[in-house]
Amino acid sequence: MSKKKITKLLIGTNNKGKLREIKSLLPKNIKIYSTSKFKLNSPIENGTTFRENSLIKSKYFSNKTGFTCLADDSGLEIDFLDKKPGIFSARWGGKHGDFTKAIRKVYVELNKKDKNWKSKKIKARFICALSISYLNKKIACVVGKVEGYLSSEPKGNNGFGYDPIFIPYKKIKTFGEMKPSQKYKIDHRYQAFKKLRKFL
Ligand code: IMP
Repeated sequence: MSKKKITKLLIGTNNKGKLREIKSLLPKNIKIYSTSKFKLNSPIENGTTFRENSLIKSKYFSNKTGFTCLADDSGLEIDFLDKKPGIFSARWGGKHGDFTKAIRKVYVELNKKDKNWKSKKIKARFICALSISYLNKKIACVVGKVEGYLSSEPKGNNGFGYDPIFIPYKKIKTFGEMKPSQKYKIDHRYQAFKKLRKFL
């Protein structure tokens, strides 16, 4: 673990939704850089866990730029679908990251499994692994989760990805219906960030 204070940090994601949220969570004294400045593609995520994929990204972007890099790997696990899409959450949206397509696939898979799924509570959780690396060296890697269930139809236009179909426990609105400031206080990225704070 590095004892040196981090003053500059590259956020290793090409996903604008994640970038927005990560920026809002980081201490204001850290100067933040985004990958768009460097025109970098994303690496191939061939890990088998959120942790592994997060580290692949933070090491890749750090090696490409020479900056200390914070990367996130996240996704939605649906218990009724044997934890799918999981680490394949982005890939369910196809090449162009079409979230409408990804959500449609969730409902198609649920229907395939059980035509009556809407009468059940479909448990799900968002998971986020956050890692910080400098070149090939891991500085930190933590995981955060938010538990909930699926809405029987997409609701709300806020956020990104699977936000319109996920309702966190003890809430009635989907993440897509919540204001970003409300979602950011409870979600998987926030839970991971709480564990990462001591490294920043
Ligand atoms: P990756 O971490 O870039 O491989 O992609 C994670 C994918 O999981 C995103 O493209 C979204 O589809 C989904 N995802 C991760 N976090 C969230 C979130 O906070 N809201 C909605 N969808 C999310």
